Parts: sequence; C-alpha cells; structure tokens
Amino acid sequence: MTALQSWSSVGRWTVFGTLACVLVSVAFNAVFFGDLGGQPLRRSLISATVLPILLGVPFFVYTGLRVRGLTITNLRLGLVARTDSLTACLNRGAFTARVTTQLARRPRGALLMIDADNFKSINDVYGHDAGDEALTIIARAIRTILRAGDLVGRMGGEEFGVYLPEVDQKSAEAIAERIRRSVNLAGFSPDGVLRPLAVSIGGVAFDSPASFSELFRIADQRLYGAKQNGRNRVTVVHRDDHPNLALKRSA
Ligand code: GH3
Ligand code: MG
Ligand code: MG
Repeated sequence: MTALQSWSSVGRWTVFGTLACVLVSVAFNAVFFGDLGGQPLRRSLISATVLPILLGVPFFVYTGLRVRGLTITNLRLGLVARTDSLTACLNRGAFTARVTTQLARRPRGALLMIDADNFKSINDVYGHDAGDEALTIIARAIRTILRAGDLVGRMGGEEFGVYLPEVDQKSAEAIAERIRRSVNLAGFSPDGVLRPLAVSIGGVAFDSPASFSELFRIADQRLYGAKQNGRNRVTVVHRDDHPNLALKRSA
C-alpha cells in the first residue's frame, strides 16, 4: 500500500492541513488585529481558529478521499495495463520492460521461451474455450515452479517467457525441466477424461551483459530446436556456446 492509499494518510492530510490553515489564520488575525487588544482580539482569534476548523475539516477529508480513490484507480489501471487478462501473467510489453530493467542491474540469469505443443489441435478438438482453459492451466503450472523474483509473461498466443535471475545454465535447465513436467502433470480434462498437456522449452543462460532481444532470439532458436527434436522437451544453452555468437566472434 502506498502512502497516498491508506486511511491514515487521509487522517494526516486532514489534521495537518487544518492545522496549517488555523495557524495561518491566527497569525493573520494577530498581525492585523493585534492592536485591538482585549475582548475584540480574543474574539477575532477564536473566530480565526474555529472557522478554518469548520471549513477545513470537510474540505481536507473530501480531497483526501478523492486523492485516495484516484491513487487506487491509478494503481489498478497500471496493473491491468501490465497483465494478460486470460492467464494473469505479465503481458509481452510489461515482461520485456521488466526483464530489460533486470538485465541492466544484474547481468546473470536465464531466459526461457515456452511454447505449448500441438495447441491448435486442442482448439480444433475441444473448442476455443477449452483452449483458453488449457492456457490458464499451463500458466498456473509454470508459476508453481517459480520462485519469488522470477518473472513470467505471456509473449502471445500459446507462448510464454520466463526470466530466472541469478541462475546458472545447470539450474536453468533443471527449472525448465520441472516446468515441463509440471505442465505434463497438470489436470486438463475438457471432456471429463484427463488429457495431458505438453510444452517445449528453449532457453539461454548468461553471465555477462546481454540485451533482451539477443537472449530472446537465442532462446527462441533453442525452442525451435526442441520442437524439431520431437516436442515435450527442454534445450537450454549458455550464451557463450551459442553457434551464432561463436561465429560472430571468430569473424
Ligand atoms: P507446435 O507444437 O508446433 O507449437 O504446434 P501448435 O499447434 O501449438 O502451434 P500453432 O502455431 O500451429 O498453433 C498455435 C495455436 O494456438 C493456434 C491458435 O489458435 C492457438 N491460440 C493462440 N492464442 C490462443 C488463445 O488465446 N486461446 C486459444 N484458445 N487458442 C489460442
Ligand atoms: Mg505451439
Ligand atoms: Mg506458438
């Protein structure tokens, strides 16, 4: 909860706002009517205290509540703009932006690209709604394997991206394998009978500065390789071992 969202912030805004008005009003009256002295001055100071309280409290409560409401709406809109509505993963833009930020901070980790196998046939056989349900099940199966700090995004269609900060190639491969098995074991039964789901995963681990587009390209090529080799499998390379990079370096 941010400072502007809480009820206590509305209370503080009201108390300090009203207090400030009272102080200004009293100071103003003391300066301009100080020479009146006695009863008239006392009366003017009482009115200088009471009036700002009578007017200030409702004003500051009202504006405090409005600011609180707008802050909450703003946060909700931000969340909606970043989230894929079907799977509740980050959408492509938000995933790319978050990973890019992480890459600038910590140039070590892995990027995985995950694509559902033969997904078209799920839609064809069970219908589009069942296909949507399968996508949410796959997203959930991926999320159950991830730790706090890992990122998952829907890159489009039946394709997901996972960013694993601070892992080496071996751990990235093990996590990808756990994701693959988690999807295999997820319960998808559109017609009352369990229909196993499968994904292919390509990934790249890195431990030196890298751009999102380079990592994406390598992981996507590995994903393509996993598909070519029969699907429902994982291929994770180290960025330095990727043939394109080796080629570039020897050139
Ligand atoms: P492969 O194993 O090679 O990846 O085969 P595939 O059938 O998964 O791949 P293909 O690209 O031929 O088909 C992807 C399908 O995913 C086609 C499209 O209808 C389906 N799809 C994409 N987005 C959605 C969605 O949001 N909901 C549903 N139900 N289906 C989707
Ligand atoms: Mg697919
Ligand atoms: Mg695809």
